[in-house]
Amino acid sequence: MGNTDVPEIRNYIGGDFVDHSSEDWIEVIGPATGEVFAMAPLSNEKDVDNAVKSAREAHENWSSLKISERSNWLDRIADSLELKFEEIANLECRDTGKPISLARSVDAARSVSNFRFFAGLLREIEEETFEMEDATNYVIQKSVGVCGLITPWNLPLYLLSWKVAPAIGMGNTVVCKPSELTPMTADLLMRVVHEVGLPEGVVNLVHGDGAGAGRPLVGHPGVDLVSFTGGTETGKAVASSAAPSFKKISLELGGKNSSIVFSDCDIESTVAGVVRSGFLNQGQVCLCGSRVLVEDSIYEEFKEKFIHSIEKLRIGDPKDESTDLGALISPEHLSKVEGYIELGLSEGGAILTGGTPDLSSEFDKGNWISPTVIEGLSPYSRCATEEIFGPVVTLHRFETEAEAILMANCTRYGLAGSVWTGDLERGKRVSEAIESGMIWVNSWLHRDLRVPFGGVKDSGVGREGGRWSLAFFSEAMNICVKHD
Ligand code: NDP
Repeated sequence: MGNTDVPEIRNYIGGDFVDHSSEDWIEVIGPATGEVFAMAPLSNEKDVDNAVKSAREAHENWSSLKISERSNWLDRIADSLELKFEEIANLECRDTGKPISLARSVDAARSVSNFRFFAGLLREIEEETFEMEDATNYVIQKSVGVCGLITPWNLPLYLLSWKVAPAIGMGNTVVCKPSELTPMTADLLMRVVHEVGLPEGVVNLVHGDGAGAGRPLVGHPGVDLVSFTGGTETGKAVASSAAPSFKKISLELGGKNSSIVFSDCDIESTVAGVVRSGFLNQGQVCLCGSRVLVEDSIYEEFKEKFIHSIEKLRIGDPKDESTDLGALISPEHLSKVEGYIELGLSEGGAILTGGTPDLSSEFDKGNWISPTVIEGLSPYSRCATEEIFGPVVTLHRFETEAEAILMANCTRYGLAGSVWTGDLERGKRVSEAIESGMIWVNSWLHRDLRVPFGGVKDSGVGREGGRWSLAFFSEAMNICVKHD
């Protein structure tokens, strides 16, 4: 037994909610208040092994279903998740500390649409053929086998569903390992899978931490593919555990993304877009624009409007419909973010806005910080080049397009970014020169689920999204048939 005063969640293995093999539990803590509101299993290698066995056993039958049958299952899951829309939003709000409005519009909405989208995409798959004079090549996409799916805490069900849907859609079976900090909506997905009657063993879930459950999952000989989203340092460990057995691997890692503001931009919409990109989800989105590069001639005007807009953001009770920013995920993460602000000061920066918000006593034990803007730092400083993953943005000036590109490329990361300009040709030209997987021009996080998603440099390996996900979660096989 864990803490008897709060609900306990369980692992989901072989179509059942099962006890884990140790007596150890994880307290699930609400970041806004510091309250323990649930207990989750601290699973170990043995639990992982049971889950992988169950996934292996289920693979043959599941992969032999027609693709149309599997897409029907995805639609059933989407329907059931949709009925739980409010529950998803409430759990995500409580578990991550994010505002309820965001949990609805982003987390709950995307979790449903991920299943719906991949159900539709699967139905569009067509077998490719390549004719030769004397033979025909048929390319088929076979499932890979058992997939280990490892996800972080910032967008818990959004990111998990982004992996589960294409993985099982392509005929694989999966073992999920959500972040120990945010296990609640992963549990909800297991309840949904159970309620719709998905064949047992197709989706399994092991709760626990990275060392006890994540690492054994990645290294398990029965796992054929690993899809990991998380930090770059963890990604390195995952890559080296997966390499000896030649597992197929996708790594979606950290980012330190630039928002580049040219003097010919529409200043009002640019300020709104750059504020959103800097601070959505308290800056805890891998795509967040945490370094803002502004053309010298409009720097002061932009700065004034930017700070004014940020200071109007409402910080506080995540359950309040009007809240813009909630709490950070954990006390440890808050300390890391505060450490970077101190580092910025020691590197010569000046804080333009920031501090700790003044909240009611209910939130005394939460992890709170106001959106912070630092100026005066070199774009090469640690604070301006390392991933902070919190509500901290650094402001920098540039004079020429070439200088802006140089500054945007001076980090080890290459995930995303945005360019704000009235000249769309320049927008495209600058975008192409940035070492990055994704750039938005005059927008940010304007997502089309069909496009490739992923980063270059230390932001990751591989692409997911749309048909890139279907390709990653399958093996292309060519059958060459010689004509009579
Ligand atoms: P972490 O890298 O700390 O953890 C990610 C997941 O990996 C968690 O489930 C964690 O478990 C698990 N894990 C930890 N160690 C290991 C290991 N040795 N082997 C296998 N699994 C392990 O990331 P955070 O959860 O802190 O998430 C924030 C990071 O995620 C940021 O760097 C952010 O940029 C990145 N991210 C990237 C995205 C992208 O698409 N590129 C999208 C969203 C976030 P546990 O936490 O339970 O210990």
